[in-house]
Amino acid sequence: MVITDIQFLVTGFRFEEPLKVAFASITDMDSCIVKVLTNEGITGFGEAAPLPFVTGDNLDTILTVGKDLKEALIGMDPRSIGAVHRVMDKLYTGNGAVKAGIDIACYDIAAKSAGVPLYKYLGGDDPHVHSDVTIGIDTPERMAVKASDWASRGFDILKIKLGEAIDIDAARIRAIRQAVGPDIRLRIDANQGWTVKDTLRISTQLDELGIGLIEQPVPADDFDGLKEIRDHSGLLVAADESCHGIKDAMRLSSMRAADLVNIKLMKCGGIYPAIKIAAICESAGLRCMIGCMGESTIGNLAGMHLAAALDIIQEVDLDSIYLLKQDTVLGGYDHVGGAATLWDTPGLGCGVKEAALGDR
Ligand SMILES: [Mg+2]
Repeated sequence: MVITDIQFLVTGFRFEEPLKVAFASITDMDSCIVKVLTNEGITGFGEAAPLPFVTGDNLDTILTVGKDLKEALIGMDPRSIGAVHRVMDKLYTGNGAVKAGIDIACYDIAAKSAGVPLYKYLGGDDPHVHSDVTIGIDTPERMAVKASDWASRGFDILKIKLGEAIDIDAARIRAIRQAVGPDIRLRIDANQGWTVKDTLRISTQLDELGIGLIEQPVPADDFDGLKEIRDHSGLLVAADESCHGIKDAMRLSSMRAADLVNIKLMKCGGIYPAIKIAAICESAGLRCMIGCMGESTIGNLAGMHLAAALDIIQEVDLDSIYLLKQDTVLGGYDHVGGAATLWDTPGLGCGVKEAALGDR
């Protein structure tokens, strides 16, 4: 089987409500659905969803780089995924989103060709994936109302975006805990917005409020700060913007600067490098979370299949499917609140409404 064409279908998705995080307020997401065609009639779909201030790429670079990658990959077997990455990495360093789009489509083809859902192709046997859902920064009162609303819809793990002044952040998390009660799991993502001193100051309050995990409290390059927080806060620390690829995972692991690494396919370049990151973390005793960059169902499904396949991915933050207005994909999973079950259908398991692509 060989690749005969790669198409990049530009689209975009709007959030149901603007999502405010420490460094930006996001109303819509650019995205590019990647379609890989083969000489055997099997077509694979992937998604490249850039977030420039995290991934360093945008739609223009996806299309420019994608054109070169396409020329180099035509004629290759999409199931030879290591070779596909070797060719992509030789041409371009970084550019995680477009590489992830191609990688996901190749895995979709490989699993369809094997006649099994992707999580089974990757070695898994359990189709269940349990995600949190994110609440963006707002007033304490409005965040508490949103938290109650999600909880009433069956979402029992909430990820709370913070990262502003710690006094108001403390008020936010107190209001949310009061609103949802003790049985809902709460985790925090400060998106680099705090200092080490801030984080250590607020950590006792967070512990008292039953916060299990704090993600990326300090700037991405402050590995020493992450380690200091991990060593002294008593909270589990997850690294997100600090980990883009295997070298970051190795550094975080060897420094023991985090308890978990948040793997995102758009940061690292797809499922193949994500498996390597997971193996590095597992070897060092770190656990993994899998997150998303605001991609739509195709990107989220890829993450869900990977989470279903790898035991070391123990926390799931694949929630943009619940936050975006979108109508381009049919099926692939069912869910009750944050508890999703992947379909037993070959590949990613979804259909793609190509006519709907391009709609915003
Ligand atoms: Mg994060």
